[in-house]
Amino acid sequence: MSSLTITGVTKAFGTGPEATRAVDDVTLHVPHGSFTTVLGPSGCGKTTLLRLIAGFLLPDAGSIAFGDTTVAGDGVRPVPPQSRHVGYVPQEGALFPHLDVAANIAFGLPAAARGSQEGRDRVTEMLDLVELPSHFRDRRPDELSGGQQQRVALARSLAPQPAVVLLDEPFSSLDASLRGTTATAVRRALAATNTTALLVTHDQNEALSLADQVAVMRGGRLVQSAPPSEVYLSPSDPQVAEFVGRAVVLPGTATDAHATCALGEVVLSEAATGPVALMIRPEQVYVDLAHADGVRGSVEEVSYYGHDCAVRVRLDDGTSVLARMAGVRHPSAGDIVHLRVTGLVRAYRPA
Ligand code: ADP
Ligand code: MG
Repeated sequence: MSSLTITGVTKAFGTGPEATRAVDDVTLHVPHGSFTTVLGPSGCGKTTLLRLIAGFLLPDAGSIAFGDTTVAGDGVRPVPPQSRHVGYVPQEGALFPHLDVAANIAFGLPAAARGSQEGRDRVTEMLDLVELPSHFRDRRPDELSGGQQQRVALARSLAPQPAVVLLDEPFSSLDASLRGTTATAVRRALAATNTTALLVTHDQNEALSLADQVAVMRGGRLVQSAPPSEVYLSPSDPQVAEFVGRAVVLPGTATDAHATCALGEVVLSEAATGPVALMIRPEQVYVDLAHADGVRGSVEEVSYYGHDCAVRVRLDDGTSVLARMAGVRHPSAGDIVHLRVTGLVRAYRPA
């Protein structure tokens, strides 16, 4: 087990004006035993970053270190993938279809351990860790559900006790209900073994709910890395705000700790002066159905999700605002409501 440090790593594909900087000057530290998710849209360089760490690709610039050991860059001879002690769970086709579960899990163990009692015990231990019954050991991958296959793939990556585990969108092929339970099992297994892990995903909920740290990528660059609540409540720019959740971005004018905007006066998380762009989460917009207290508007659209609902309101000045409220008692299209902003609001310099 060790920490992972990526410093100024760049990787381009192709040459000249056709070149794509798939990973562009990325610097990221994953502390020993912690779990980081890399969040970004498709094509932003997530898989390339994992392949660089695993050693299947070499960086054009920058360095990668596990603990104090540099494995690529800084003029050192690159350490080959099989010597990096990395557990890699690729996006698809992670398991060998012709091998049973036990052989899949034992695959990365030293040859001598594979057929031994020690090897068999290790397989049992790994099945237990990923919360699968031990009689699954004799099954083939095609006799398992998608979620069970992902757990076996994780068990295989953890069996040799790797320094770092890399997971490439491991839950993207699973349906919503299975995704949650599989993700929870994976997080428990990683925590139980105190494994340093990096998981890449384009799914905001997954990125926020699983990790100690979320690293947001855009166009090959890392734009923010921080604890989940900080990324959500204090995104580094309005684009990150809109990528990690729904956001209402309104122009306003700031005076120290306060600002005024179409939703009235709001309290800022950090003092600012002059013209600003204000980022308000829809659940911060309180929808008052009964009192004429706040900024008046009329309900245009209600999307009901059961546990809560999203309400699109057109303010009297024409501004459109999205609010989220508990689903228990909600307005209907055409209702007149009054809106107030609760909690602290993040202000940005206007674009
Ligand atoms: P993600 O995993 O976030 O979807 P990738 O890392 O797969 O993104 O790809 C990042 C960018 O690099 C994309 O523009 C992709 O087309 C390009 N790319 C990835 N691998 C290669 C390759 N082997 N050759 C050329 N271009 C590549
Ligand atoms: Mg990918």
